[in-house]
Amino acid sequence: PATMRLDRFLSETTPLTRSLAKKALKAGEVTLNGKPVKQPAQQISPDEDAVTWQDEPLELVGKRYLMLHKPLGVECTARRGLYPRAIDLLDVPRVERLQPVGRLDVDTTGLLLMTDDGQWLHRITSPKHRCDKVYRATLAEPWEGDTAAWAIERMAEGLLLEDDDRPTRPATLTMLGPVEAELAISEGRYHQVKRMFGALGNRVTALHRRAIGPLELAAGLAPGEWRALTDDEIARF
Ligand code: URA
Repeated sequence: PATMRLDRFLSETTPLTRSLAKKALKAGEVTLNGKPVKQPAQQISPDEDAVTWQDEPLELVGKRYLMLHKPLGVECTARRGLYPRAIDLLDVPRVERLQPVGRLDVDTTGLLLMTDDGQWLHRITSPKHRCDKVYRATLAEPWEGDTAAWAIERMAEGLLLEDDDRPTRPATLTMLGPVEAELAISEGRYHQVKRMFGALGNRVTALHRRAIGPLELAAGLAPGEWRALTDDEIARF
């Protein structure tokens, strides 16, 4: 942006909310080009003006887009709970702004995208955009022959899951072995993959997300590792 209000600049470059930014201004914690400044409505140019808060220089950063190989035992929530959070694995500034693009269960591994770009996130997660999420599942019961063919058909037709009011969208099931399956779904309902296998009398014992739309988990990323997406990868959605 060419210019913006100082309180907004503070809320985008520090953990302060707009109202806490106003308090920080009032308390004399902010300088503009070396001089104390108190007016929240002061227009500043993020490219040209020097702003500090509690003596720290502040800088706008662009939107962030990361891929994380989510390990077991990590939660996709913002609040601190029983398990370490996905954002605890990232060492980037203002990590609390990053949101997971579609959550994975604590016991699910694989591709997790994180961003602070709400529109991009929406393009990937909104069912309207029909972005396929591809999961590798290990099953408790072997499916072979006619049973496998039946399951493939049922997944393609859509299933009415317990507590839902409409069937799942057509999903593509591929059997890679008697207990190794790949399922591509274009929605993201609560525990959807586990519930779909459950609805057909099976049980998922391990679940891994391999791809989201045109983006695969990078082969070189070990569980717990992450990297920034390339411009090309960001533009695929
Ligand atoms: N479906 C599930 O059941 N769990 C996940 O983590 C993702 C999709």
